[in-house]
Amino acid sequence: MSDRLPGFSTLAVHAGAQPDPTTGARATPIYQTTSFVFNDADHAASLFGLQAFGNIYTRIGNPTNAVLEERVAALEGGTAALAVASGHAAQVVVLQQLLQPGDEFIAARKLYGGSINQFSHAFKSFGWNVVWADSDDIASFERAVTPRTKAIFIESIANPGGSITDIEAISTVARKAGVPLIVDNTLASPYLIRPIDHGADIVVHSLTKFLGGHGNSLGGIIVDAGTFDWSRGGKYPMLSEPRPEYHGIRLQETFGNFAFAIACRVLGLRDLGPALSPFNAFMILTGIETLPLRMQKHCDNAKAVAEFLAGHPAVASVSYAGLASDKYNQLARKYAPKGAGAVFTFSLKGGYDAGVSLVSKLQLFSHLANVGDTRSLVIHPASTTHSQLDDAAKVKSGAGPDVVRLSIGIEDKEDLIADLEQALGA
Ligand SMILES: *Cc1c(COP(=O)(O)O)cnc(C)c1O
Repeated sequence: MSDRLPGFSTLAVHAGAQPDPTTGARATPIYQTTSFVFNDADHAASLFGLQAFGNIYTRIGNPTNAVLEERVAALEGGTAALAVASGHAAQVVVLQQLLQPGDEFIAARKLYGGSINQFSHAFKSFGWNVVWADSDDIASFERAVTPRTKAIFIESIANPGGSITDIEAISTVARKAGVPLIVDNTLASPYLIRPIDHGADIVVHSLTKFLGGHGNSLGGIIVDAGTFDWSRGGKYPMLSEPRPEYHGIRLQETFGNFAFAIACRVLGLRDLGPALSPFNAFMILTGIETLPLRMQKHCDNAKAVAEFLAGHPAVASVSYAGLASDKYNQLARKYAPKGAGAVFTFSLKGGYDAGVSLVSKLQLFSHLANVGDTRSLVIHPASTTHSQLDDAAKVKSGAGPDVVRLSIGIEDKEDLIADLEQALGA
């Protein structure tokens, strides 16, 4: 065996997986079981007391899910990961470890519409207060820091406009404030951007999108970078203080640089319950094997479609960081040199009505509320994903009334362009 460290494509196929020790099965089996037999009473007690690692019950962990966790941790360059039922479940489990009622977290205003809702309403009812900042104005993050701030949350490539976030600049603010930086890396995937390399302490994903990649399974994941010292300043008692539910152990002291992933599993997933089905873990693992191939094709197609739209007379503007003229092109060259992703927006000269009409005329593009599928997708955010926002907030989050969002699939780009051409022209 050579000492070479495996490359990204090799990890995408192999990380975390081995032939099944009992059957020799080469693909990772679906361990479709709720629970696992203990060797004896001592073994059971040590598993429950966190003195040994092993399988207990699928709400807390499952061998199929464990392969997925190891694979995504390897692709992101983290120390450990925890798979959960959805991207939104990942967000709630992460923040539950960090915030007490009355605490605050700072979030970029440009976010997936569902996250804006989750943060503004559901989290408020837990006493977790979101403070909005603007990723185009780094100082707005600094100004938002208070003694109650416990985390900063951003997207690497932000929904819906595909803008690129300056992760390193915001990481500097987080370090200075002594709080972890959480990066939602859903739209980039680790193939395009690895936020931990740029200072992220925690990475979350909706696996539902590019990682699974085929629009068939929901899932979410939390990756621990292993970089944050949770004992500093007594701000994170879930990690630094003795846990009564585990005989008084302190998670940071016991688990060191993967304590956050452990906390998410044994305090978050165990008690809140959003476990990922092993069947979905299997589907998502299969998807990840082709992530590098798919992602490159997604990006190459997106660039061709964005260039076509930018030259079309019915189009007012295109917001795609992969275009040389785009406001975020410098950041794209720095953070995502292989491609600026495949989700972006454009606006039509004919405004709201033209947007609605375009969506209804497209044939190859599916009109639906998802991104990151092999199929090309279209939606009009102002009337759907971002409809709960008032007009000013819509514009601020990149979802004004004239804006259409595309998620470009892996079909032939000529067919995608022909479909847009007929829908724009007719
Ligand atoms: C879809 C999505 C989510 C939520 O994920 P679910 O799996 O739908 O719960 C969070 N962030 C981003 C950027 C997304 O695209």
